[in-house]
Formats: sequence, structure tokens, C-alpha cells
Amino acid sequence: MNRVYNFSAGPSMLPMSVLEKAASELICYEDSGMSVMEMSHRSPVYDKIITSAQASLRKLMNIPDNYKVLFLQGGASTQFAAVPLNLMKTGKADYVITGQFSKKAYQEAKKYGDVRLVASSEDQNNTYIPKLTKDDFRPDADYVHICFNNTIYGTKWNYIPDTGDIPLVADLSSCIISEPIDVSKFGVIYAGAQKNMAPAGLTVVIIREDLLGFAKPETPAMLDYKIMADNDSMYNTPPCYCIYMAGLVYDWILGMGGLEEMKKYNEKKCAVLYNYLDEQDYYIAAAQKDYRSMMNVTFVTGNEELDKKFAKEADAAGFKNLKGHRSVGGMRASIYNAMPIEGVEKLVEFMKDFAKANPK
Ligand SMILES: *Cc1c(COP(=O)(O)O)cnc(C)c1O
Repeated sequence: MNRVYNFSAGPSMLPMSVLEKAASELICYEDSGMSVMEMSHRSPVYDKIITSAQASLRKLMNIPDNYKVLFLQGGASTQFAAVPLNLMKTGKADYVITGQFSKKAYQEAKKYGDVRLVASSEDQNNTYIPKLTKDDFRPDADYVHICFNNTIYGTKWNYIPDTGDIPLVADLSSCIISEPIDVSKFGVIYAGAQKNMAPAGLTVVIIREDLLGFAKPETPAMLDYKIMADNDSMYNTPPCYCIYMAGLVYDWILGMGGLEEMKKYNEKKCAVLYNYLDEQDYYIAAAQKDYRSMMNVTFVTGNEELDKKFAKEADAAGFKNLKGHRSVGGMRASIYNAMPIEGVEKLVEFMKDFAKANPK
């Protein structure tokens, strides 16, 4: 078996011990006589799996009791519509654009009401996060929407904006469970699972209970948070296997000591790459220093041909999926929780060798 270092932005690496555990239970889960993929979602054995996955996530993120955890489908992109459909009580929402996903969320929300663009970092190619205060938001907005970690550009909010009493809604797809976050500062948190939690197919929504029950009448049942909450995410068949995998990932982090420990590891890991980027001038870090993501590290050589050559040679050397997103170019190393620090150390060695072999 020859595992590579997979720097994909998502679907991405899963922890080796989680894959091993899943493999050992693949054909026969405990004494059920069947695979998790084959069992009824309404069976007692599966009920234990989904209940314990939820309990583990609650413990891991320290989710307050007045929040519901929903295991949904459709990816984070479905939430771009579900959020306005569920939360637009009066039809007004404020959005901040800091990258491509927040822009998509903004464009989708515009279909459903009066959506205001509060600020955008597009003027500097989304390399920073705007500084916002309470006064920047409409006091009568139903919610404020942000994307907390910008997967494509490699930036992250270095603060949680103060929206006063207006619920803050955040897309955490690419940074959820990478470090502790104060859930009580948010009305809704949502995340596709395939970056940091599980295989693709599961979307986690964490919602404050007082925000449930205001869906527009035309909201599809499948997108109605209240219906999903009332049915414990079992209104229909949930993404059973993904939820099982997410549970294993949550327990893996709990086993290492929780999100404080995960954060320490991620800080150490991304520092290997950022420190190198800062101490030389062959490669240029794309995101501005104050807003760097721990999860997605973007950089360029400044020469498109060299960027291409880099991605190609890196791939051949076992460093996969380093090509930047098609809309930005350059390189992007996604180093989610499951990427071991050795992967990043070896990547830096490769970068040094490449720079030596390809003088500008
Ligand atoms: C990947 C990603 C999305 C899109 O997720 P899907 O599950 O493919 O819909 C949305 N937002 C962020 C921040 C992402 O990283």
C-alpha cells in the first residue's frame, strides 16, 4: 500500500486510524452481522451510531443545550438556499463576500429577499477580511452571513464580527473542528463534511433553537430546519455511512484531547509552511498575513509556467492536488486535521529542491 500526501481541498484526507477502524468494521459492524452501509437507519444499532456521533460533536465543540445539531444532505451549497428560506422572517439579510463561496451564498439569497452586500474583499482578490463593526449591519436584518474560512483564497476571519442581536450565520465548511470556536456567538453554523469531518454527502447544521420555525411557506420540507430538528435528522434516510464516519473522526479528536489539542497541532503544522514562505522569496504567500488560514495555504511563484511545472512535479513526487483553484491559479496546500505534520515538512523540502532546480 502506497498512501500519498493528499493536499486536496475536499474531499480530503481522513485520519489513518479512522480509516483503519472503518475498514475493520466495513463488512460486519459489531455483532449486527452487516455493514453500516446496509443497515436500516431506524434500527437500534444505527440509532446508537447517530446518537453517539451527535453527542461526540456536542462535546467536541462544546455546543450549548439550546442548539440543535442536524445531519443533512446536499452539501454546504444547499445551505446557501436553506439559510434564507428558514431565517428570513422579514425578508432582509446582510452578507459579506470574502471569496467564492460567500459570493455564491449571497447570490443565492438574493432570490429570496432584500439582501444587502455589507462589504467585499474582492477589491484585493479576496486576500483579506474586511474589518466590520456593529454599525455596518442593518439593525433590522434577519441575519448576517459570513464564510469563516475561505477555502479557495486561503484566508480566515481573525475575529468574530459583533452583530449585536442579529443572528450571525457562518459557513464553516473548511475550518470546522480545526480549533475551538464559541458556538454561542452564532445563530447558525453549517459545514459540508468532506473537508474536515467525513466523506462527501453529509452537511452539519448547528442552529440556535429560537431560530427554528420561521421557514417561508414554500420551503421544501427537506430544507426546513424545524422539520429536520423535530425528526432528529431522520425525516428521510440520512447519509448513514457518512454520519458513522463523522462519529469516528469526532472520537479521534476527542481521543487526542479535543479541539485545544487539535488547534495546537494545526498551528504547528501550518507554521512549517508559512515560516518557510516568509523566509524566502521564491514563493509568495497569497493571503495577507493577518488573515491566513490554518487549513488552506495559498502561494504562487509569480510565473504561471513555473506554477504548472511545480504542481506537475509535486504530483509525481507524491504530493497530490496542490494546483490552486481554477479561479485563482498558483498553488494551494489544504492541510486539514488529518494531514500529518510530516506531510507538510516533506512538502517544504520538495519546495526547496524545486526552487533550486528552477531558478527564476
Ligand atoms: C467546499 C465548500 C463549499 C461547497 O461545499 P459543497 O458541499 O460542495 O456544497 C461551501 N463553502 C465552503 C467554505 C467550502 O469550503
